[in-house]
This record gives sequence, C-alpha cells and structure tokens, in this order.
Amino acid sequence: MSDKNRSLGRFLKKVFFVDLIQGLAITLPYTFSKTITLRYPDDEKWIPYKRFRGLHTLNKNKDGKELCVGCELCQKACPTQCITVIPGEDKTGKGISDRIGYRWEIDLLRCMYCGLCEDACPTEALKLGREYELAGFSVQRQIRTKDELLNPQEIPVDFEGGVIVKARLVTDDKGIKVKADMSVQKKWW
Ligand code: SF4
Ligand code: SF4
Repeated sequence: MSDKNRSLGRFLKKVFFVDLIQGLAITLPYTFSKTITLRYPDDEKWIPYKRFRGLHTLNKNKDGKELCVGCELCQKACPTQCITVIPGEDKTGKGISDRIGYRWEIDLLRCMYCGLCEDACPTEALKLGREYELAGFSVQRQIRTKDELLNPQEIPVDFEGGVIVKARLVTDDKGIKVKADMSVQKKWW
C-alpha cells in the first residue's frame, strides 16, 4: 500500500470513528450481560478452587484419628520458620501411631502460603485449606493452634470449589466470621 493510500485510510478511520465503534462493539454487550458482582458478606461467599492455598488444616483419617505423627518435617521444610511442632507420646490413642503432635502451632503473620509444609508431610495430615478470611484485631489471633486447625472443616478437602454459596454471619468470641452455607451453590459463571 502506498503512503498516499495509507494516509487516506487513516483519515477515513478518523472521520467515521472506526476505532470508537470497534471499542464499543467489545464493551457494549457487557452493559446488557448479567452482573457478576458478589453480595459479600451479606448474602454470598466465594469458595475457591481445590488448588487454593489458604489457612492450614490438620486432618484426621476416616476413623477420626489424628494423622499428624509429630515428625516435624513441616517445621523443617518451612522457609520462614513459622511452624512449631513439639512431638509427644500418644497415650490417649487419638493418633494413628504412638507418636503425636503434642503441640502444633503456626504463626500466620510469617507464613507466605507456599505449600512446602504440605508437600513435606508424609501422612497427609497437613493441608492448606480454603479459609481466606484471616484478618484479625490482635497479633495473638494470628497464632493458630492444633485445636483450631483440627476442627471439622466447613469446606470438605475434596470439594472442587469454584462456586458461590450462601453466606451467614457468625459472631463469637473471636469476632465476626462469614461462614459458608454449602447447601446453596451456584457456579461462578
Ligand atoms: S505455607 Fe510455606 S511459609 Fe507457610 S507454613 Fe507452610 S512452608 Fe511455611
Ligand atoms: S503435620 Fe505432617 S509433617 Fe508436620 S509434624 Fe505432623 S505429620 Fe509431620
């Protein structure tokens, strides 16, 4: 194409607002499409996909026995040294072996959610879950202990995620939480 034709093309594009029309052709349909704004936290809550790395969970086997054997591998694998494990002899029969994580603690302020601790765990006791509302009003609240992490998870480990569920606000001594009501689920899109 000669320089003259190219200049004419540019001129006609300007006169007929071709760029503007092309842009509008892309954006205008969104004006009439369904909104995807989440009514969070009053009505809806987003459940992330299975691969999401949120608050740690310590898990039990099908018989309700603690999978953590206090081997300390997660503590050693952690690059920020935010996990503290003190093993102990299991005289209560709560665990799967005669050794148990007597004390298991994590400092969330130092955690970068890399997942290396989960990879190091030989019994699959430790998983990074889908809890993402981790803000708190005190530094102490950011230390999570074994008792808290062993609580039954409201989102099952094997649940695929990627859905919006009903939300309900729960107030307890730790503050206000947005809990997930898994009975109502809709796809993200
Ligand atoms: S996710 Fe990473 S930084 Fe956090 S506790 Fe595990 S290994 Fe440490
Ligand atoms: S969570 Fe896993 S890696 Fe960490 S102490 Fe327990 S069994 Fe060992």
